[in-house]
Amino acid sequence: MNPDTLLQDHDALLLVDVQNDFCPGGSLAVPKGDTIIPLLNDWIVSARRNGNPIIASRDWHPVEHVSFDMRGGPWPVHCVQDTKGAEFHPDLDIDNRVVRVSKGTHFDQDAYSAFDSTGLGTYLRRANIQRLWVGGLAQDVCVLATVLDGMKEGFEMHLIRAATRPVDEAQGEDALNRMKDAGAILD
Ligand SMILES: [Zn+2]
Repeated sequence: MNPDTLLQDHDALLLVDVQNDFCPGGSLAVPKGDTIIPLLNDWIVSARRNGNPIIASRDWHPVEHVSFDMRGGPWPVHCVQDTKGAEFHPDLDIDNRVVRVSKGTHFDQDAYSAFDSTGLGTYLRRANIQRLWVGGLAQDVCVLATVLDGMKEGFEMHLIRAATRPVDEAQGEDALNRMKDAGAILD
């Protein structure tokens, strides 16, 4: 699978939450989460060469966010704004031209999808984007929510199958089926 031959005009690359806390050693690590980074970097290089926009979403929580277990939420403390855990993984080849999308920034509201309360759909439409190639973490949580929302927003959503990893293998399989059922294309 060669991104150079797949990327066309009106395509964008969307990297979901490739952050330290979601990689091995992080507070909410996805098993083998960092193994997708070399493949994502191949896509980044191709997108850059072809002039396709590159968007990187990040979980970007205030302290004592509603999703944290200390507040009765489902997750341990993770991706607190301006901490090491919230940084993009250092091996991810992103530069200043990559568009950052921060989500989950409200104290009292969580967001799994990169489209949730971020305005990303509007931005992409204004840039005449029709198709999105998606990879990142986690396949069964934020990638799933992002792909489903992207379909609802009217984009053709392509999941780069080898460039995502689940928290849980069985839920990961279920997530793939849900994406496929919603009309996303698994590449
Ligand atoms: Zn979060």
